[in-house]
Amino acid sequence: MLPKRISVITLRMAYKSKEDAARYNREWYFSHKKSEGARKKRERKNAIAAGLCGRCRHRPKLPDILLCSWCVEQMRALDRKRSVRDKEIVVKAYGGKCSCCGESKIEFMSIDHPNGDGHEHRRRGKDNARNNQEKTGAGIHIYRWLKRNNFPSGYRLLCFNCNCSRGFFGYCPHERERQHITVVA
Ligand SMILES: [Zn+2]
Ligand SMILES: [Zn+2]
Ligand SMILES: [Zn+2]
Repeated sequence: MLPKRISVITLRMAYKSKEDAARYNREWYFSHKKSEGARKKRERKNAIAAGLCGRCRHRPKLPDILLCSWCVEQMRALDRKRSVRDKEIVVKAYGGKCSCCGESKIEFMSIDHPNGDGHEHRRRGKDNARNNQEKTGAGIHIYRWLKRNNFPSGYRLLCFNCNCSRGFFGYCPHERERQHITVVA
């Protein structure tokens, strides 16, 4: 399947083969890259000036941002998809299950910093973001950051239950259960 723009040109120019058309379009793309970029930029600017969305350029834009509600939803969905993909990759790289209880559902997984620098890491992440450097730290950014940095050691997987309990109470009931079992046995 050829992209839409190509198929129109293919019809008009009557290419012998799809390969010919693809080559033509590739060349067209590279020779027009600059002017096309400028055209798109101009169209975007005009749309915004006319109160339209800067992305789709035909729906009315929302009051405080340059996008329409439909495009906001689209961007959100894309971002969510990307975040889930990043998390899947990271979870797999760190063993795929909670290092305390063995829970393996990706929805329950979180990253733990056993050396306890979670807060420091998040703070540093904020500073970096401010300095327009690497964005690390809280939430989904940690997965992106770990992936980009080739899964450094010093991190482990914990499910939210085990992680939260450690955060709030300084221990996980699973540990006590295990200790209890050892004592009894
Ligand atoms: Zn839009
Ligand atoms: Zn757990
Ligand atoms: Zn636990």
